[in-house]
Amino acid sequence: MSKQKKLIIANWKLNPENLKDAKKLFSDIKKVASRTQKVQTVICSPSVYISELNKMYSGHRIEMGAQDVFWENKGKHTGELSPVALKSVGAKYVIIGHSERRALGESNADVNKKMIAALKAGLNVVLCIGESKRDSQALYLKFLREELESALSGVSKNYLKNLIITYEPLWAIGKSADDAVSSHQMHEMYIFIRKILTEIYTKNTAFSVPIIYGGSAEPDNVKELLSSGEIDGFLVGHASLKADEFNEILEITNSI
Ligand code: PEP
Repeated sequence: MSKQKKLIIANWKLNPENLKDAKKLFSDIKKVASRTQKVQTVICSPSVYISELNKMYSGHRIEMGAQDVFWENKGKHTGELSPVALKSVGAKYVIIGHSERRALGESNADVNKKMIAALKAGLNVVLCIGESKRDSQALYLKFLREELESALSGVSKNYLKNLIITYEPLWAIGKSADDAVSSHQMHEMYIFIRKILTEIYTKNTAFSVPIIYGGSAEPDNVKELLSSGEIDGFLVGHASLKADEFNEILEITNSI
């Protein structure tokens, strides 16, 4: 993972509905993503598409990722996907701790086990943390600290080169650019996350971890967030399903 490049990570969620449409979307995105040299594009598609989409591009400007993973690599775990298996079909990244997984019952302890297994398997982990709402006493900061500290429990500093932290407040997901985090709020979160990382690891290590933002990142807000928010990229949900919007985000990011 190059720290110089901005990361634009598409979270396709449970879309598109079939492989044919997934190939079409990938191919439309590839036209731009394959030439935006200052951007590392990552497509986190449904896992069943990873292998086929991976065959459609042989360079490194676009990498494939998954949206979740299990903490074991084999055994009696019906329906689970292992980190080693994901890697073997071409995944280089995996989102862990997304709020939509946490809403289905994933705990901080589960996130931690998934992180350790994925990092050990050599995957780059896109860890998501985010509060559902903000309160005037700033209790949400305590909540975020807990999410981050427990996710990192037992993760040695040698693995941090493969970690990306996504600040993704639930109140901003699936809305529009106007509802997203402001650059001022993002700046505060950037300092807060770096402070916690510095408390756990060394300052140098803490500053080497990319911090990205997710939650209604759209062509209309990425420029301002990138220019003033000190962030290293975006996790993009709904805008990643429209190739023209996603490609615009890639172009804007590449031009900054
Ligand atoms: C997400 O849920 O990861 C996400 C970034 O969604 P959206 O961009 O649609 O808010």
